[in-house]
Amino acid sequence: MSMRNRESRSKDYNGGVKVGCIFCDIASGKIPAKKVYEDDKIIAFDDIAPQAPVHVIVIPKKHLSGIMAIDDKQADLITNIFRAVKGIAKKKNVESSGFRVVVNHGKDAGQAVEHLHFHVIGGRAMEWPPG
Ligand code: AMP
Ligand code: ZN
Repeated sequence: MSMRNRESRSKDYNGGVKVGCIFCDIASGKIPAKKVYEDDKIIAFDDIAPQAPVHVIVIPKKHLSGIMAIDDKQADLITNIFRAVKGIAKKKNVESSGFRVVVNHGKDAGQAVEHLHFHVIGGRAMEWPPG
């Protein structure tokens, strides 16, 4: 391995994983989570502090910091995330009653975890506009 490769591999990113990122740790199994769905690129799990009877977090296993990090290269991934969301809505029995998909980005939206994630929230009536 070249010096440059060795350096970049030992830095923050290592095979799409960001050191110290809690959702990367869930994706790799380092931190436990209540898994709702998993395939080779996506994992979904119950939110640790649910805001509704159904509150699932859907993430790409690869570290992307947020919605602004999405580009054409992730077209298939994003389609597959929404396919997973549909499956989760069915599994959690909210496909008829309704549910909300939320992506917080940045400070004003209150994004707490800097790894792209989709909240799937349902099981109760929600208000609009959100707070
Ligand atoms: P956001 O504010 O959009 O960044 O949302 C982050 C979400 O991740 C919050 O709803 C947290 O409750 C949730 N969360 C943080 N740590 C964990 C964890 N270890 N397992 C499950 N959900 C988590
Ligand atoms: Zn991450």
